[in-house]
Amino acid sequence: MRDFVKPFRDSSRIKELQEKLLSFTFGEEVKIMEVCGTHTMQIHRFGIHQMLPPEVKLISGPGCPVCVTPNEYIDFAVELARAGLTVTTFGDMVRVPGSYSSLEKARAEGADVRVVYSPMDSYEMSIQQSKPVVFLAIGFETTAPAVAATVQRARKEGRTNFFVLPGGKLVPPALRALSADPELKISGFLLPGHVSVILGRKDYLFLRELGKPGVIAGFEPVDILQSIIILLEMIKDGRAEVINNYPRAVREEGNLKAKAILEEVFTPGDSRWRGLGSIPRSGLFLREGYSAHDGFRAFSVKPPPAREHPGCRCGDVLKGLINPPECPLFRTVCSPENPLGPCMVSSEGSCSAWFKFG
Ligand code: SF4
Repeated sequence: MRDFVKPFRDSSRIKELQEKLLSFTFGEEVKIMEVCGTHTMQIHRFGIHQMLPPEVKLISGPGCPVCVTPNEYIDFAVELARAGLTVTTFGDMVRVPGSYSSLEKARAEGADVRVVYSPMDSYEMSIQQSKPVVFLAIGFETTAPAVAATVQRARKEGRTNFFVLPGGKLVPPALRALSADPELKISGFLLPGHVSVILGRKDYLFLRELGKPGVIAGFEPVDILQSIIILLEMIKDGRAEVINNYPRAVREEGNLKAKAILEEVFTPGDSRWRGLGSIPRSGLFLREGYSAHDGFRAFSVKPPPAREHPGCRCGDVLKGLINPPECPLFRTVCSPENPLGPCMVSSEGSCSAWFKFG
């Protein structure tokens, strides 16, 4: 274990925090949603569910970028690959089933689908070949600045065979939509660490008007437990503040340089999320000046109408309506080796976390 992590995994500190947690009583269910796939994994890995008072439930939200990407996006990418283009993407996306196929299956049929570690890797590929290269630009505020920088470079260098398929999503509009959903009854949010590095605390202040407390949390057990305690204290007192409990990485204003590049390249628009439907101004679309690199505009492939896998309840999992074991296909038919939905494919997916850690 690295030295700087040690204090955040200190067992006596964890025990102290657990005792503090167990001292809370509410008399009704309190639902805290974590909106970050990495938090979901860490919560399961460190058994944090088991440290909570019985009335407090941690539910996973739409924090896994691969999971929230709707089938029609995947179907379009599969058709591009079948049409002979080079399609590049992060690893998890390759295995995600679309309506009828996946990029992995398309590759097995001979399509040129490649896994990359960054959008710039894709760009380098486009320099080495004349065939069009299309990068699947999914993800949240964390990965979007790197996509924006790559598109800027493509325009500056006049590259005509590099494209992105805009699929990026913004977290604050999703929090608004989740807060407004009466079915969910969310008491507060554990806010995502990585996304908050870009956004800063300021961008969540709207939560106060919605009456939902939020705490920005780091990823170690002490970070998460402390953040839950701060949330529970606010819920107990009826306060809805936004607290930054990850000050070693997150600033009040966020990363202004990253925000500036996002603003320059992207414009927000209505976007469909798996499970949550269309959320106003929650998607990142290329501005007119960069439209020459927009894969949706450049290629007119026509996938058949999108459909969901019958029985997969990934949408309900992403909304926090059910926990994965409540899906009848969990472990019986669906597993990381044979995933039926994206929530089981991605390492940040809730079904995958429940499968691995219980
Ligand atoms: S267990 Fe599988 S089938 Fe069920 S919701 Fe999760 S991904 Fe879908």
